[in-house]
Amino acid sequence: MKYRYWCGECGFKTPWAGESEGRLAQLRHYERWHGGIAPGGHREVRCRWSDRERACLAVACAVVLLVVLVVFITSWRHQL
Ligand SMILES: [Zn+2]
Repeated sequence: MKYRYWCGECGFKTPWAGESEGRLAQLRHYERWHGGIAPGGHREVRCRWSDRERACLAVACAVVLLVVLVVFITSWRHQL
């Protein structure tokens, strides 16, 4: 999951990053531009599939397809 932190004082938003990384970027922004103000704003969450997760899904799909194919061929052979 990726996070983007929005500044509560201006229109600034951090780039998409990990949770701690994004929070740090927001803190740095507050330190620089809004000194003395407690960090506010909100956090935006993006749920995106990583390459690894996508590869896992592809493998899972291939296995399911293979099982279906084997079942289909087996039942087809029994009919002959
Ligand atoms: Zn700001």
